[in-house]
Formats: sequence, C-alpha cells, structure tokens
Amino acid sequence: MTQDLIGTSRALNYEEPLLWEYAQNEASGVDFPRPKNIPLRTGQAARADIGLAQLKEPQVLRHFVRLSTKNFSIDHGFFPLGSCTMKHNPRLNEKIARLDGFANIHPMQPDCTVQGALELMFKLQNWLGELTGLRGVCLTPAAGAHGELAGLMTIRRAHEMNGQGHRKVILCPDSAHGTNPATAAMCGYEIRVIPTRENGCVTVEAFKEALGDGKDVAGMMVTNPNTCGLFEREIAECAKLLHDAGGYFYCDGANFNALVGTVRPADFGVDVMHINLHKTFSTPHGGGGPGSGPICVNEKLSAYLPYPIVRRVPSPQPSPEGRGSYYVLEKETDRPTMFGRLRSFQGQFGMFVRALTYMLSHGGDGLRQVSQDAVLNANYILAKLKGDYHAPFGDKTCMHEALLTDKIQKESGVTTIDIAKTLIEYGMHPMTIYFPLVVQGAMLIEPTETESKETMDRFIAVMKMIADNVKQGETEAFHEYPKSAPRRRLDEVKAARQPVLKYIG
Ligand SMILES: *Cc1c(COP(=O)(O)O)cnc(C)c1O
Repeated sequence: MTQDLIGTSRALNYEEPLLWEYAQNEASGVDFPRPKNIPLRTGQAARADIGLAQLKEPQVLRHFVRLSTKNFSIDHGFFPLGSCTMKHNPRLNEKIARLDGFANIHPMQPDCTVQGALELMFKLQNWLGELTGLRGVCLTPAAGAHGELAGLMTIRRAHEMNGQGHRKVILCPDSAHGTNPATAAMCGYEIRVIPTRENGCVTVEAFKEALGDGKDVAGMMVTNPNTCGLFEREIAECAKLLHDAGGYFYCDGANFNALVGTVRPADFGVDVMHINLHKTFSTPHGGGGPGSGPICVNEKLSAYLPYPIVRRVPSPQPSPEGRGSYYVLEKETDRPTMFGRLRSFQGQFGMFVRALTYMLSHGGDGLRQVSQDAVLNANYILAKLKGDYHAPFGDKTCMHEALLTDKIQKESGVTTIDIAKTLIEYGMHPMTIYFPLVVQGAMLIEPTETESKETMDRFIAVMKMIADNVKQGETEAFHEYPKSAPRRRLDEVKAARQPVLKYIG
C-alpha cells in the first residue's frame, strides 16, 4: 500500500517514464477544440494526427526538468575523464555569449551588419594561430572529429593540387584515439600502424619502419602529448623524416591543454592540427553544449583550407562595397584552391564567443598557467596513487593526465570497471576506462587545472580505500556498486551484444 503511494520515486529522486508512457488523455496544454464547419485553408493533411503524446504543459516541463537532473556534468562534481579535459566553464563566458549582439544575430545577415561578430571570429583565428604557431585558421568544423576530417581533407587537397594524389597511406600510432584511423579511412586512406614501444611513445626507429621509402605516405596523425599522457620526445625528428618524404604531420590537438601557452605545436613540426575549443578553451561539453573543432595549418597548407575564413581589409584601404572591414573569404572569388565548404554558415558561433572570452580573460600568461597547473594536478594524483595502483609509466612525470591500471587489484578479481562503478557510488564521474587500448585495464585520469586540492584529495582517498580493501581481501562490495545511483549495474555484455536501439512501446 505505502509502496504503491510512493511508486518508484523516492526522496525527491524521480523515476521518469517516457512521455508516451504517461497516461494518454485528451487534454493538451495548448490546443483549442477543433472548430466545426470551418473549411481549413491548409487542407486536411495539416490536421493529421502525428502521434505526439497529449500532455499538459506542467507535465512536459517537469518531464524535461527531471531528465535534466539525471545528467551528470562538470557543474555537478568531479569529472576526471581522461583525454576529454572536463574543466570548469567560467560563468563569464556564458554572460558574454548571451549579449544581444552575439546571441541574436543571424548567419544570413549581410557582413556589414555583423562586423562585431566577424571581428570576434578574426581575433579567435589570430589567437589560435599564435598559440599553435600555425597561422592559417578555419573555425568551421563542428567538433574534434570533424576537425580531423577537415584537416585530412586539406592534406588530401594539397597532395592532389601538387600532383601527389597517389599518396594513399596515413601513419597512426597504435595508441591513437579511435577517431584518427576512422577519419583517415573516411577520407579514403589506408592506415599503417606505428607500434609504440614499452615506453608508450613513438620512437624514431618504429617510425622509420612504418614510413618505409615514404613515397605512398600522405601524412601521419599523432596526438602530442599522446593518449598515455606522455610527451612524444622523438616527434620532431619523426616530423623531419616525414617532411623529407613529402608527407604532412596532422596533430590531434585534443590534448592541447597540456601545452597551451607553453609549447607551440608548429615548433615540433606540426603542419595541421585541430583544436577542441570544448576541451582546452572551456566551452561546455559532455551533456552541456555543442563541440567546436577549428583547424590550424601552416603556410604550406593554408591555400587548401575549407572556407569560410574571416579576413580584415588592410587598414589604409577602403572596405570593399558593402562588405565592411571584416569579411568572409569565399572560395569562388578569393581563393579557388580551397577544397570547399564543410557545413552550413560559420560554425558554432556561440562557442567562439566563449573560447575567446576565456582566452582574453586569462591572457597569454594565464593560459601558460593553465597548462602548468593541469600538468601539476595530474602529477599530484599520479604521485599519490602510484604505490596503490600499477602505473605503467609511473617512473616518468606525466603531462595533463595520469595513467593507472587494475593490474594489482585484478589478482583479487577487482577490475577497472569495478573501480569505475565504485567512484559513481561515491559521487564522482569515473575516469576514462579501457583507453588507450594499448594498456590493459587502463584508467586515464585528467583532473584539469580547475579542480581544488580538496576535490582531488577526496578522489585519492576513495581510490586508496578501494586499493586497501582489495588488499585485505574485502572485494565483494566492489562488484555491486553503484548501489545508490538511479540505476544499478547494467548487463553491459548483453547491451553490447544485443543492443536495443529503438523504443518498443
Ligand atoms: C576528444 C578527442 C577527439 C575527438 O573530439 P570530439 O570533439 O569528441 O569529436 C579526438 N582525439 C582525442 C585524443 C580526443 O580526446
């Protein structure tokens, strides 16, 4: 009886059905009864039943608000997801992005009416060019993976325009993020793997072997620091060999938070790189906002970029008729070598506003502090936990993320997935698990520079508690967590083997 009254919603924690699972009724929040004997000017089809759930406005509102509270985000708590740079999004960014002149403009307005917005994009291009040392910048890609596509298409275009279209191989280390080989394959390239050695890095020796005579190699895709959280020390030498063989160096810039303001990727030989604004430059992601993945290229590639790109009329010259001082470079009229357009309009403009706000509010010195603090925080966690967990590269300092594994705990039957689920029980988002693939039972922890020492200490305490209990043979609870979350353990094997991707009512 009491159970019936409560249902499955307890303690202000709602079990939320789908909209269609609510009892259907005739009362909708907005529609008036259908008028009788009035011919519809839009035809009968306009009134066809499209099967929306009939609910009252408060029901709909509560439904979505309740769902929104189920979404763990960086604004909830610690979110040390390695490779993802889940950092705090300063509220100042949000305030600026909501200014009328940024929020309420339309991409089809004439250039002369949106000069401020174009100036903002121009400045962002310049900041990204300065920070990477790669001065040809196109802001348009909608996420990191889209930036990879844009970058490889730029490389492909350059080869084609230079009579090198026969180059069909992209070199990729085995530790690469899955999007790297996937992008190369999408561009019609063949992937040749560079095996990383015991030290987790690409060595000149392994690179040379993969390169061969290099005649068929279009380029390489490497992230630096790599997905083991290590700086690729031999990369500049590899880049030189690649360049001598006629290939281009694509750097996956998702890990730029470790370098921003400290190292310019152009200086270790990068020709093209994408930037995840939603990682390094604090624009929201992970259930919080769209991505944005601008690409930066050097002078060898800038003629082949996708468009649009924003330009400024050199100051002594009058602005061209109707264009204003800032204008969007067009392929047809301005630069026919560009490979084309990747998406509609300019890109994720709201993210450009947030990213530039972040850059300007930190300044160059502040951004250097960001990378230094991010690296310090990751090393703090590594130093505190490497006695309790196996740290495959624990003899070195790491960059912005610490890599541990479950090797010690596994002997007692507690594995990476158990540790991740225990963190959920203790109110934290798990780290990235089982990635990079080259490290068994990997746990990749990226605290970022925005977490306090108290937060990291609590995380360390939970991780130590797990290790201590396992050591004492108390392992059972770890297979059961999370116990207090809205959902207990799911049957992940069944979900992977028999995915049900459609709601069956
Ligand atoms: C996040 C990430 C990507 C892809 O970026 P998206 O914005 O998620 O498409 C690529 N490579 C690495 C190493 C990443 O961490």
